[in-house]
Amino acid sequence: LGRLYGPVSTLLNLQVEVATALGVFQRIFEYQDLEPDVADVPHAASLPRVGGEIAYHNVSYRYGQDKYALHDVSFTALPGEAVAIVGPSGAGKSTLIGMLARVIDPTEGMVTLDGRNVKDVTLSSLRAQVAFVTQESFLFHATVGENLRFARPDATDEELMSACRKAHIHETIAAMPQGYDTMVGERGHRLSGGERQRLAIARAILKDPRILVLDEATSHLDSESESFVQAALEELMRGRTTLVIAHRLSTILSADRIIVLAAGRVVEVGRHAELLERGGLYARLYRTQFPVTLV
Ligand code: ADP
Ligand code: MG
Repeated sequence: LGRLYGPVSTLLNLQVEVATALGVFQRIFEYQDLEPDVADVPHAASLPRVGGEIAYHNVSYRYGQDKYALHDVSFTALPGEAVAIVGPSGAGKSTLIGMLARVIDPTEGMVTLDGRNVKDVTLSSLRAQVAFVTQESFLFHATVGENLRFARPDATDEELMSACRKAHIHETIAAMPQGYDTMVGERGHRLSGGERQRLAIARAILKDPRILVLDEATSHLDSESESFVQAALEELMRGRTTLVIAHRLSTILSADRIIVLAAGRVVEVGRHAELLERGGLYARLYRTQFPVTLV
């Protein structure tokens, strides 16, 4: 099992975005330069709590007048499934996940949640059901408790602690100078990379969304932090539909489906073993990225 926790299979500066403001969602995707054309349609309905079926229907996307970054992408994630997106840099992975919570809208095609076009519902009701966990750590200069309640202002102390236990961070917080009242963030108590990540995961657990969008990145956590983060992520993903830009081998191996993107197109779809067997792009990427794990 130890080989799942190599340096390539870790997360750097994990961030969970829980705000409903468009600006916050854009910031994490580096889409600031895009025209803010995403808005509620007139009389948009509120999205009721979803079961969690995500479907991309012939989705294409073009940044401005540039060439298409995504071409005719279709796939489905059933409620509770984890779908991993893999592919070389520039393949369109960030563009693809950005459409789920409408950071950007497809140029062609549509994305549905439980069969409803995400463009037809209010941004606030949509984003209330989607949590992002991405590369950049994001902690306010505020107390641990305040950072967590950003996800759910009315959470009780019991709920905070329960989320933190699931994220394997409660013990660490309890050992801090003022516990949940300890100031963190820029000038506050210094947290290690793994602790920040687990705090971010606790925040997402507290938000309790039906849908998770994860962007994993390679980084260097020691293997103990790594295994705690791994356990916290497993807890977070349980029972939710997850779309993940996967870099960790453990995520890839456990994914219900792997979508291989290249130059904006889906070139392969399947589980790890079948894709490896095919000997195509996935197999090549896998061998490049995880050479030590080849037996
Ligand atoms: P990946 O996440 O797989 O590395 P991206 O979705 O970030 O790929 O990018 C896909 C393509 O879209 C790339 O060719 C990239 O240069 C282009 N692209 C990404 N963001 C922008 C943007 N804001 N403006 C113009 N082109 C972009
Ligand atoms: Mg990207």
